[in-house]
Amino acid sequence: MPLGQIYACIPLVSACAPDCGLCCGIVPFSESEVVAAEKASGKKPTIKGTDCCFLTAEKSCEIYDVRPLICRLFGAVDELHLRCPRGVCGAEFPLTREQAGDLVRKQQELGEIIAFPTISELENYVEKMASEMEVPE
Ligand code: SF4
Repeated sequence: MPLGQIYACIPLVSACAPDCGLCCGIVPFSESEVVAAEKASGKKPTIKGTDCCFLTAEKSCEIYDVRPLICRLFGAVDELHLRCPRGVCGAEFPLTREQAGDLVRKQQELGEIIAFPTISELENYVEKMASEMEVPE
């Protein structure tokens, strides 16, 4: 199944709140998603603090039309970690966690590897976020 068809399986999410960008952190891009993002914006994804490098100062997505799979799944899956943090946007008929996992597997079956951030950069980021979220005793 081509990537476009995988994207097409994701239900539409109602409009995000203006000036939000709360769910736009460091997200994984596959190789072809890096190429699409670079074509659309003229730049490769880079790590810039804890925000996505494609999040503009006005909190909109610079590459919305070619945003990667994970960004499309956000708000479209009935799973705690993929729900809108403000409870504002969502899909009328969200995917289940299993259906979303199936789409991620289908993307991997295309032979696409995660090109950005590297796996170790992603692990470090997740570790850092987890430690920042720890409640001090
Ligand atoms: S690519 Fe766009 S939608 Fe995805 S995290 Fe970055 S700014 Fe947000």
